[in-house]
Amino acid sequence: MTDCIFCKLAAGELPTNKVYEDDEVFAFHDIHPVAPVHFLIIPKRHVDSLAHTDDSHQALLGRMLLLAPRLAAQLGLEQGFRTIINTGHGGGQTFFHLHLHVIGGAPLSPNIV
Ligand code: 5GP
Ligand code: ZN
Repeated sequence: MTDCIFCKLAAGELPTNKVYEDDEVFAFHDIHPVAPVHFLIIPKRHVDSLAHTDDSHQALLGRMLLLAPRLAAQLGLEQGFRTIINTGHGGGQTFFHLHLHVIGGAPLSPNIV
């Protein structure tokens, strides 16, 4: 997807504050953090949202989820963190390249679920 900013960040075509990278996944600090630590885990290959995944994405989604606690610990979130995937306009998604938010480092407001 040529006009996707997250694709460009993952490809190194735009600068960003990288947290982690492997052959399938890229993680970087959110440009507008809502907590002292706020980073995003994304697939390198474009996927619009969680609603655009199927069985072929099983390993990728597992890798993204498994990375969250590992990277959170590296960034000092041993006390815990919150993971969020906003999906679609109704779910508050504003950037349509699948991303997993990882947030922590300060008391978080009570969850709505
Ligand atoms: P959403 O609302 O789609 O779940 O979250 C999109 C997130 O991407 C927001 O938290 C926003 O701050 C972040 N973001 C948008 N553009 C950029 C960017 O160019 N660089 C970085 N690092 N984060 C971005
Ligand atoms: Zn993309």
